[in-house]
Amino acid sequence: MTSQTDYDPLMIERGRLLFARPFLFVKGCVRLADLPPMDRVEIAFAGRSNVGKSSLINALCGTSGLARTSNTPGRTQELNIFESQSENLRIVDMPGYGYAKAPEDKVRQWTRLIHQYLTGRATLRRVYVLIDGRHGPKDNDLTVMNELDLSAVSYQVVLTKADKLLARELEKVVAATKAAIAKRPAAHPHIILTSSAKGTGLKDLRTEIAMLLES
Ligand code: GDP
Repeated sequence: MTSQTDYDPLMIERGRLLFARPFLFVKGCVRLADLPPMDRVEIAFAGRSNVGKSSLINALCGTSGLARTSNTPGRTQELNIFESQSENLRIVDMPGYGYAKAPEDKVRQWTRLIHQYLTGRATLRRVYVLIDGRHGPKDNDLTVMNELDLSAVSYQVVLTKADKLLARELEKVVAATKAAIAKRPAAHPHIILTSSAKGTGLKDLRTEIAMLLES
């Protein structure tokens, strides 16, 4: 099982170059008003706490300390903004959702921020919805996808931690995820399989992002 698609070699190279230069942390935003002006293409990464979002952003950008990797789920409570120094691209790292032990008012606050961001940001081109490869889509992943479908915000599912599964387990989770997105209007049909630990799927993800910038 592989996530490989027949990408144009020029786009693969474009994706590599896009992430060859450093991304820098700009700021963390707890309110919409703190966000930078809508002056460049944005992509956002969303997912349950502990899905491997920080690890994936770090691996994608080739920087170990860009996004905080933490074993304390729910620690990242802001929209964290990273920008390319050479390209017209901004990455928005969204607060992880579904952390059971988080206080209710905090959860309400993030949910509102996430909702406002996802539905009101004209420069947001795509949301990468990260789903743990070991678990497949959970209720709160489906809730986020519902919201993105309703708001007509393009999104693509990225399965994480592929190295923790056997090939036949991966096939099962890919099939379940395909079934979960089949009738969703804003979902990209191609699911990207990744492992930050092994570097799997990073090329695909970079290529998909490069294609977004070109389109
Ligand atoms: P976040 O809360 O979504 O930002 O998740 P983190 O990136 O902090 O990762 C949560 C845990 O999963 C950490 O212990 C990571 O080391 C681990 N992890 C993340 N990505 C991978 C991966 O690709 N493979 C494996 N085996 N572990 C991973």
